Amino acid sequence: MPNSYAGTKASRMNNPDASLLSGFVRYAQKRFQLSLLAAGLTDGRPQPEIPARPIVLSLVLGEVVHIPSFLQLQEETKVSQWQRWVGHQGMISHDTFGYVSERLDPEQLGRAVRWVNRRLKRGKAFEANKINGLLCVSLDANEQFCSDHRCCQQCLTRQVTCKDASGQEVKKTQYYHKQVGARQISSVK
Ligand SMILES: [Zn+2]
Repeated sequence: MPNSYAGTKASRMNNPDASLLSGFVRYAQKRFQLSLLAAGLTDGRPQPEIPARPIVLSLVLGEVVHIPSFLQLQEETKVSQWQRWVGHQGMISHDTFGYVSERLDPEQLGRAVRWVNRRLKRGKAFEANKINGLLCVSLDANEQFCSDHRCCQQCLTRQVTCKDASGQEVKKTQYYHKQVGARQISSVK
């Protein structure tokens, strides 16, 4: 999901992206009832001005065409075609995207992704990707959010030795996160 505030230049997406999204929305509605799926995701706001569904749908569509920032996503939500896709008239601000995406329930997201994958598997969507009759998944671990000062309750820690201004060796604690991603690999180009 687009998660940075970088890229203050908020340009609109181009025509190929718009037609890609148009096709994606049609396909995802038919195959996965996309809007129903998005309606199952909640963010815990007690009286939301904008329901979670169009916000989640905008986040998904933004991911499909690699919109790099919430600020640009906000610009897209001003377009009437976008508003039709997500079923909400009016702009959705970058603040709202930030607030809601921090509060989505990972468990609900996981359930939605598993449901989509089961449907894809049942529809034999992965058959062409098999290598010698097997589906192959590669796992890749990455380290993220390394800091000497900021941390949260889920942070991993390690002691590192470095030199201070006078050249003396000092030990300090570093905080970081690790993520493991799974990606299906195939011989299909
Ligand atoms: Zn942390």
